[in-house]
Amino acid sequence: MRFLILSDIHANREALEAVIAHAKDKYDRVLCLGDVVGYGADPDVVTEWVRHNAELTIRGNHDKACAGLEDLEWFNPVARVSAVWTRETTKPENIAWLGKLPKGPAQVDGFHILHGSPLDEDEYLITNQDAEQVAPYLDSQIFFFGHSHLQGGFVFHRNHTKRIAKPGTDSDEYVLEVDPDSTYLINPGSVGQPRDNDPRAAYAVYEPEQRLVTYYRAEYDIRGAQRKIIAAGLPEVLAKRLGIGG
Ligand code: ZN
Repeated sequence: MRFLILSDIHANREALEAVIAHAKDKYDRVLCLGDVVGYGADPDVVTEWVRHNAELTIRGNHDKACAGLEDLEWFNPVARVSAVWTRETTKPENIAWLGKLPKGPAQVDGFHILHGSPLDEDEYLITNQDAEQVAPYLDSQIFFFGHSHLQGGFVFHRNHTKRIAKPGTDSDEYVLEVDPDSTYLINPGSVGQPRDNDPRAAYAVYEPEQRLVTYYRAEYDIRGAQRKIIAAGLPEVLAKRLGIGG
């Protein structure tokens, strides 16, 4: 069994389509860690693909905001403008689907998926210290998380915490062999708005029987996505950041 793990697609159709093409023949089942919408200009196309192809999707903070479940006061001005735009332009049936997404963590076979952290769906796991604080609560060997838009994650082995690498800029994949004596918090990276200084779309494939997690990066039509963000009247910074992956 091979799981395609997608997170933080953020209504970026060009990035999603590039990932699907790049991942062709590499997966059997699809899981999504949330933030299907927000920031990008194609909420309907992206939501409909995820609705029909992912067997389980966990809600992200932007999904909640766009569905009206979150007080927008907590959002920065750019995120707020994009949440309001998404709420007003997305088909009601897609907004309704986003509003019903379950909160993580959720168990899938022998592992878990979630959006932010195992303790709080809106919390960011950025530093080793952030990860160490939640490590005692990990009750399966592998947890997949998103929210930070930083591909990689953390591995815990006998009181040591290490950051997991990601594909270098000269490569489009990085293979992680899962060690039976370690515990993992794995971030597949963001499909639609990477923030780790690599503008390529990020995703991962998990093969439990092989004990392998492969991190991938896919080139996509960044200019096309940027043009649509500008044409939609969304804040220009949302287009700019796609160009630098930051
Ligand atoms: Zn996000």
